[in-house]
Amino acid sequence: MERPDRIAGGRRLATFAAFIVLAACAGPMKTSPAKTSRVGPEPVRTATKTLDHGGNPLLIENGTVLDPVTRTATKRHIVIEDGRIKALTEKPPAAFEGRRLDATGRFIVPAFADMHVHAWGNPSPLDGPDHACGIGETSRFMLYCGVVAFLDLGSNEERIFGFRDRQRAQGRPGADLYAAGAVIGHIADPKKRARTAGDRSADGPQRFRAAQTPTDGRRHVEALAKLRADVVKVLYDHTGSYMNMPRDVLAAIVDEAHRRKLKVVVHIGTWKDAADAVAVGADAITHLWDEDNITPALVAAWKRKGVRSIPTQPVQVDLPNVLAKPGVLAHPLLQAVTTPKLRADYRKTKGFVPKAAFWMKYQGPHTGDYARQLAVLHKGGVALMTGSDSGNFGVFQGFSLHREMALFGAAGIPTWAILHAASIEPGRFLGRKFGTQVGDEASLVILARDPIATIDATTSIVAVIHRGRVVDRNALLQGTTVAPAKPVPSAATR
Ligand SMILES: [Zn+2]
Repeated sequence: MERPDRIAGGRRLATFAAFIVLAACAGPMKTSPAKTSRVGPEPVRTATKTLDHGGNPLLIENGTVLDPVTRTATKRHIVIEDGRIKALTEKPPAAFEGRRLDATGRFIVPAFADMHVHAWGNPSPLDGPDHACGIGETSRFMLYCGVVAFLDLGSNEERIFGFRDRQRAQGRPGADLYAAGAVIGHIADPKKRARTAGDRSADGPQRFRAAQTPTDGRRHVEALAKLRADVVKVLYDHTGSYMNMPRDVLAAIVDEAHRRKLKVVVHIGTWKDAADAVAVGADAITHLWDEDNITPALVAAWKRKGVRSIPTQPVQVDLPNVLAKPGVLAHPLLQAVTTPKLRADYRKTKGFVPKAAFWMKYQGPHTGDYARQLAVLHKGGVALMTGSDSGNFGVFQGFSLHREMALFGAAGIPTWAILHAASIEPGRFLGRKFGTQVGDEASLVILARDPIATIDATTSIVAVIHRGRVVDRNALLQGTTVAPAKPVPSAATR
């Protein structure tokens, strides 16, 4: 399986942002080219077929239903049919034929989405084998963690589109994959360009498409549209010395993508990069910049143009937290979706490859800077979508979406807004009607604890409902690289 590029020891990169550039980023979403039509749900042609999970009626009884749109928590019975919420009732429905799920004392939220993923697996921080579990297992781990949809923003095109097409045509156990294919970037340094070209031939359809000119950019978008990319992912990052995509190339990519009704997600380095992305009409910007403060003018433009932000805090600050005590590694949900070997590798800090060692050193002191920028974006009214940037150091497939939510909380974002960013907003971007209102898609997570009181409660998962069906979470892990020695019988299979 592919893994993030390892940057040779001793090389000095200007910033942390430059390190994540080639780690594993890329991906597109169907969009309308007109700015005004970007508000609200937009159809994603591919999502509709898999919505049909049969008509099995389901009744979730006695739970507290949390609605991130109205910011209300109400005791209700939820009637689900044909994969949608059919009714929310105060009293149990008089007549109900179908499966019942008792949610007394539980909290029901719309299921989560991870909008920045590299679905190949989890890298070891050592110079040894990775937990290269592949796309299929990644989708299982996602769903196990309550993440019903994920957006891959940079993977080997043959593999990622191949899996996605099989999933959509035949169904596969796991969360719903959306994918960008390869990222489009610019390589200023001819030596690096040559290396990338070589890499491409070695790995077939690769994770990177070099766009040196506007014409190149348009050609790549055309090719990605033919592959039915769900979004286009562009690296527009001027923190290093070798990427530096000219603005006219970015503008051409966005224009061509919108002509083809594709959304564009732009990886940025600096706030200047973000300002350019906003100006040329990008649909979403991923990552934050920590070395200077975002200006009120940029926040205002960002909001005005309806550009969404995918801040990806796990990749930017979470590596030191993985090893803190008590840290992320000890979390039962993380342990369920990773191998003992991977967790052991994280404890061997002295053996970290230079890139992981650098992240370890850099992230802690900069955590507050990222949190501050995130809070400013939120206060300025920019729509946020959660994303982990899994596939990188310190980030774990499925689990780290909960870290993104927790890090939003640590930045001072109210819990209702976090749930909105983790479900409603990605749903709008993907053309899915995530939510807990009548008519919404019945993709839900049932929690033991109240996430409004503390956002960490999102990990207290009791059950996951995916398109109206109760997910057999234990079955998801069976036969995978993390399969428990003794399978635990699950309520759903009894
Ligand atoms: Zn990425």
